Amino acid sequence: MKTIGLIGGMTWHSTADYYRFLNEDVHRRLGGAHSAAIAMYSVDFDEIENQQVAGNWDRLNVLMSEAALKVKAAGADLILICANTMHRTAEAVAKASGLPLVHIADAAAAEIKRLKLKTVGLLGTRYTMEMDFYKDRLAEKHGLKVLIPDDKQRTLVHDIIYHELAYGRILTESRAVYQEVIADLQKRGAEGIVLGCTEIPLLIKPADSPIPTFDTTELHCKAAVDAALA
Ligand code: GLU
Repeated sequence: MKTIGLIGGMTWHSTADYYRFLNEDVHRRLGGAHSAAIAMYSVDFDEIENQQVAGNWDRLNVLMSEAALKVKAAGADLILICANTMHRTAEAVAKASGLPLVHIADAAAAEIKRLKLKTVGLLGTRYTMEMDFYKDRLAEKHGLKVLIPDDKQRTLVHDIIYHELAYGRILTESRAVYQEVIADLQKRGAEGIVLGCTEIPLLIKPADSPIPTFDTTELHCKAAVDAALA
């Protein structure tokens, strides 16, 4: 089994799920006393968020590359960025570490294609919904049509992530907001919804949506275990 490297802490609420899912999945597949071989570096999210707000992606490339080197030094054979948004730095992380990077959008796309869906709605931070690095990968590499909420809804979705989910606050009224956004995306043609922020699955469960949801935290972990056991 290869050692799975995690850059975590973005935020720690979802990284806790990564740790649990990876161990559960390895145990499910190998049985016995097996658990996942993991090396993790967990960042101070305050620094990351400040740089995001400042739009300082060059600095974020540096911070994430430094984190990747720490994970590599701890013995990682492959690397995961435990967030969708910070995949904006995926190229820099892969280059700095020289390790194979399991990309979260590819993990989501594999499951979307397995269900033979062509059009998906994307929920995530403003960065993930609006910048090209995520949508373009789904569209260009995987041939998917990606819909995003309108501007007002993007603000709501983004603010709930940064003001609530990032602090582990799960509110019924915010679930209702997300459900409205999902309903609108469905009306516009979405056949499924990418929960493209690793905290969203804390709020939205499959039963909360009339169309399939893609839990990027769980799918990313599954792809990592596939790679670790290959
Ligand atoms: N965990 C989130 C994501 O998957 C948001 C936190 C961050 O900005 O990294 O995008």
